[in-house]
This record gives sequence, structure tokens and C-alpha cells, in this order.
Amino acid sequence: MSEPDPRPPVLDEVARLDDVTTLSALKERVRAFCDERDWDRFHGAKDLAIGLVTEASEVLEHFRFQSEEDIAAILGPNGRKAEVEAELADALFFILRFAGRYDIDLARAFERKLERNAAKYPVDSARGSNRKYNRAPLR
Ligand SMILES: [Mg+2]
Repeated sequence: MSEPDPRPPVLDEVARLDDVTTLSALKERVRAFCDERDWDRFHGAKDLAIGLVTEASEVLEHFRFQSEEDIAAILGPNGRKAEVEAELADALFFILRFAGRYDIDLARAFERKLERNAAKYPVDSARGSNRKYNRAPLR
């Protein structure tokens, strides 16, 4: 018996795959992709973390030395948003791969972290402010 295809069945009919794709399905896609290539030996925690930061840096590279106006153009209809999307996807690949290899429930981890952040940044004091929770105001 063959494995079920984890890809969404309506791949070409859905405008936003985010709306119909689970993290589990993406983790499974990454696992299958890597299994086919026998990449487990290369995907220890250190190398996956390096991969994540490397890909995150590739996202950042698009914005280095750019003004806010330039950035708006980069992400606009005549810009290179597809390149930025590709780098975000590369970073997501490493997050999914890390979580898959080390049995991390990403949705649970995310919910826990968001809950902690909500405690650090209560709406009353954090609304409209980008100040880090443990830093006093400068003035
Ligand atoms: Mg990349």
C-alpha cells in the first residue's frame, strides 16, 4: 500500500494554500523530500540551525541598504517579491525539517510562545510601542 499524498488535493484550485495546508502536511512533505535524497545524515540540529540562519540572512539581503521607499518597490508588483518569498520558503523548510527531525510540535510551541509574549507585552503597555519588554523607556 502506498503512502497517502500529503499535498493538498486542490493545489491548483485554491487561491491561498495557507488556508488549506497544515503544518503536519508540510513537515511530511519535507520529510519525504529529504528521505528520497537520503539527507538525514546531513540534517543534525547544528546544521539545520545553520541552514535556518543562512536562509534568514538571504531574506535580509534583499533589504540591506534599501530605503523604505526601495523596500516598498521590492515588494510591489514590479519588484522581486517572488525572490523574497523563495527565501522565506527556504527558511520555513529548515524550521519544518528541524521540527520534524526533533519531534517538535510547532503549533504548540508557537501557542506557548505567543502566550509568554502576551504576558511580556500586555496590550495596555505595549500597544503602539516597539520597546523591548525588559527595557525602560529612554525618556
Ligand atoms: Mg535561499
